[in-house]
Amino acid sequence: MLIDIHTHVQQFNKEDIEILITNSINNNVKIIIAAGTTISDSKRSVDLSKKYNEIYSAVGIHPQNILDEKTDNFIEKLSKLTENKKTIMISEIGLDFQNTSPKKNIQEDFFYDQISLAKSKKLPIAFHVRNAENEAINIIKLSKINEIKSVAHYFLGDYDYAKKLLDNNVFISIAKPFLRDDKLSDVIKKLPLEQLVIETDSYPQYFKKNRLRWTEPKDLVLIIEKLSKIKKISPELIIEKIEFNSKYILNI
Ligand SMILES: [Zn+2]
Repeated sequence: MLIDIHTHVQQFNKEDIEILITNSINNNVKIIIAAGTTISDSKRSVDLSKKYNEIYSAVGIHPQNILDEKTDNFIEKLSKLTENKKTIMISEIGLDFQNTSPKKNIQEDFFYDQISLAKSKKLPIAFHVRNAENEAINIIKLSKINEIKSVAHYFLGDYDYAKKLLDNNVFISIAKPFLRDDKLSDVIKKLPLEQLVIETDSYPQYFKKNRLRWTEPKDLVLIIEKLSKIKKISPELIIEKIEFNSKYILNI
């Protein structure tokens, strides 16, 4: 089976979720992680996991969304949400250093605190990094991320960065940019299959007028095809290995 280790499917409307689940089942995608980006979005992910067999929840505050809602006692609130038995991950957390982003030190505090929460709950994390690779590696080392299971979501980096992640026990999650980016594909070709997982990061893409072109968990099959091609390993074996890795991370 295929497991989409990082999506935001809770942000689709009800009708689109039904379509997306049917498409997923028809394409062998049997587990979809819905990652929250704020407290209320994390709640939506919890609610959705109760409604659909295929959906599991991840809770967390995305670095870009730290200032979107009141965040007093946010660790307590997220901690409460982890009591749902289908909440199996802390995500989406991380660092995103763009001009419009919340201040770096605030992001770093939120990243640390949510890693600590994951440790205390014995849950894996999936983290986001943009323009902050050195800072992320620092936190990964200081917070001893290698003591828990973790995923670098939507990996777009070079081999040196990948190597630093792998050395800290981090799994690398491949998303669709890999399908069209030759440089990225060359990096991924060199990474051990034993430390790879896959994702679509699906969210409603209203900017694409043609609904059929929205990214959905079913697109994982495209990532499998390409991995099979560059690694010269059969799709069946790639699926088997990635399923094993994903279940190991998610403790399922
Ligand atoms: Zn995401």
